[in-house]
Amino acid sequence: MTSSASLSQLFWTRGDDSPVTHVERVPPRSGISVPWPAWAAPQFVDACRDHRIMSPWAHQATAGTLAFEGTNVVLATGTASGKSLGYQMPVLSRLLTDERATALYIAPAKALAADQLRAVAGFGLPGVRPATYDGDTAREEREWIRQNSRFILTNPDMVHHAILPGHERWAVFLRRLSYVVIDECHTYRGVFGSHVAHVIRRLRRAAARYGGRPTFVLASATSGDPADAASRLIGLPVTAVTEDASPRGGVTFALWEPPLQPAYPGSSAVPAPRSDLDDELPQVRRSALRETADLLTNAVVAGTRTLAFVRSRRGAEVVAAIARRQLDEAVPGLGDRVAAYRAGYLKEDRREIERALLSGELLGLASTNALELGVDLVGLDAVLICGYPGTRASLWQQAGRAGRAGGEALAVLIARDDPLDTYLVHHPAALFGRPVEATVLDPANPYVLGPQLCCAASEGPITEADLELFGGDPARAAVAGLTASGALRRRPSGWYWTHTGRPDVDLRGTGGAPIAVVEESTGRLLGTVDPESSHAMLHTGAVYLHQGVTFVVDNLDLEDAVALVHPEEPDWSTHARDVTDLSVVNVRSYVDAGPVGLFLGEVDVTNQVVSYQRRRIGSGEIIDTRPLDLPVRELRTVAVWFTVSPPALEAAGVEPPDFPGALHAAEHAAIGLLPLMATCDRWDIGGLSTANHADTEAPTVFVYDGHPGGAGFAERAYATAAEWLTATREAIASCGCETGCPSCVQSPKCGNGNNPLHKPGAISVLDAVLSALAIRS
Ligand SMILES: [Zn+2]
Ligand SMILES: [Zn+2]
Repeated sequence: MTSSASLSQLFWTRGDDSPVTHVERVPPRSGISVPWPAWAAPQFVDACRDHRIMSPWAHQATAGTLAFEGTNVVLATGTASGKSLGYQMPVLSRLLTDERATALYIAPAKALAADQLRAVAGFGLPGVRPATYDGDTAREEREWIRQNSRFILTNPDMVHHAILPGHERWAVFLRRLSYVVIDECHTYRGVFGSHVAHVIRRLRRAAARYGGRPTFVLASATSGDPADAASRLIGLPVTAVTEDASPRGGVTFALWEPPLQPAYPGSSAVPAPRSDLDDELPQVRRSALRETADLLTNAVVAGTRTLAFVRSRRGAEVVAAIARRQLDEAVPGLGDRVAAYRAGYLKEDRREIERALLSGELLGLASTNALELGVDLVGLDAVLICGYPGTRASLWQQAGRAGRAGGEALAVLIARDDPLDTYLVHHPAALFGRPVEATVLDPANPYVLGPQLCCAASEGPITEADLELFGGDPARAAVAGLTASGALRRRPSGWYWTHTGRPDVDLRGTGGAPIAVVEESTGRLLGTVDPESSHAMLHTGAVYLHQGVTFVVDNLDLEDAVALVHPEEPDWSTHARDVTDLSVVNVRSYVDAGPVGLFLGEVDVTNQVVSYQRRRIGSGEIIDTRPLDLPVRELRTVAVWFTVSPPALEAAGVEPPDFPGALHAAEHAAIGLLPLMATCDRWDIGGLSTANHADTEAPTVFVYDGHPGGAGFAERAYATAAEWLTATREAIASCGCETGCPSCVQSPKCGNGNNPLHKPGAISVLDAVLSALAIRS
């Protein structure tokens, strides 16, 4: 459509009080296409031409050639860069030239596998017989698929629960397995990713048993060090192809910080609207939702096809509703050209909305990130991102929806009240000047390794050679422990699973049954919550949000792992208060920087949710505090911590009475900024700060992985400590508030009601730590 200058004028005018903190221009790129590789099967090439794919982009051909030659490869390029063709080309060419070969395609979600099935079936290639194999596949079809399909599309849970336990039935398929495609492999992170890494190792072992040695082709969003992440995932060396040769339109990218509320500070005259309905703290700034709705309104008035990403479904609906109302006030009927989009829509509805937006019938769409995975919606004029989506990888994926070849487009990131958002809109180099973050997973986590070794043993005895496959020394230690506890039995031919049933292992959890959230009046299952978060989220009386609808918990029954709820929209929110205790089990590694120490080690965390506060929505006024009677939870995990000697703190300008508030504020912000370093979100991480800890005998801030055994986040924090804590300091210092707000040192998940917090003290604490670390290094 228009030039970027006129496009951006639609949205903002520059000035001193402009909410725009930075404008970055991403230049257009012309594509590099190459001839079809000589090895590509002629039938496949013809099928592509029928689909108007006349020749591949260079990165597709490079990745395809590596894979065809048997090299494990990860293709890590941007949204809409045609990664599918990069694996379809070698895999389908192989299936066409070797009529016995088989391939397995693994996607993190059923919808993706269904999309991929449609694409592969659409090529109409003889003898391939692609089929999805998931929880919805009928029993009678499964047998046929095992025996006839040569391209099976599934998900990791299905490989874990169905294919591997019944590997004998899959012997022929596994013997002929030439390729395993792992799509969207960047989604395998943290504890889930660590589980999937072992599922892949079990798959490799099962295939090898029948003589199969598949080549792995992985597709990833752009991510930091994709070869390393992919290699951790499959346990084999992987070559990365990252040079994106697809064409792209230019994009003007703006960072937007909603202004402070006029009433701030001091006055309570103006009631503050809430920036997001699942936000929990009183607002200091104009709400990001409202800013997004205003920008969407302007865009639609100007005839610009715009997609707004909003983090919650309710938020997306609010943005769409505000924009519709404003548009109808301007031009009656114009509001009809804006819609909301969310996960859970039927496929037909989704396709219809996509079609209407691409054709221009619909001009504005507010969506949750349900659109992020696999939906083919690109070539828009503008993308509004309400709140940092958590990773640069997601940010680029969302922004990548804007821009057509030869056209100009606009992307705007609107900061929410959050320390990471605040930091980013003031430090554009953290977004534009650096690669996307590494995908963190840790296959050596004993809480993952133990259960996975039990699964492996139940599929066939574990041999000495297998121990290398499952990670070497950590696997050896885990097997010894499982043998001692009686789960495995050592025999001359290996370690055997001693029970008759299968081990009960859930890839998406770390032990303990998830708590089912059930609507009492109807018996409807709304969803599940992992046991780690259940006490704080589902205690009796808690206000619980499910897909944007508000419920109140009537009873949390831990014995039966169920929370009974009823729909209600009270005008308060609830905030669990907890007591956390932490003891150091061991120190794995440390840095001695004089008055400052930096440590990585194992810790035992005990946590008890003891009460909850009810707070008035909008004002944040505390209505009351109610006691709870919940058991103590224990967690052994990995933590990073730093200590600062009291004299060093005083020298940095922190008075002893302010030690607790300064450390606590630094802890909150540090947790908020850790996602800058690793693909986690702040809900994956816990913290504890104290002016004197029994194990360290000093003022200490602990930040720990919230999952048993750790998921690699604390390790990552330790490895990048100087960068992480520098960003934390900057986030606090660059926030315009006076005494601390949700954009800097307040935390929505604080178990102490954000008390005490000392904002200037937190900056001093971090200065003391950073200067000591700098002197030492
Ligand atoms: Zn602030
Ligand atoms: Zn706190």
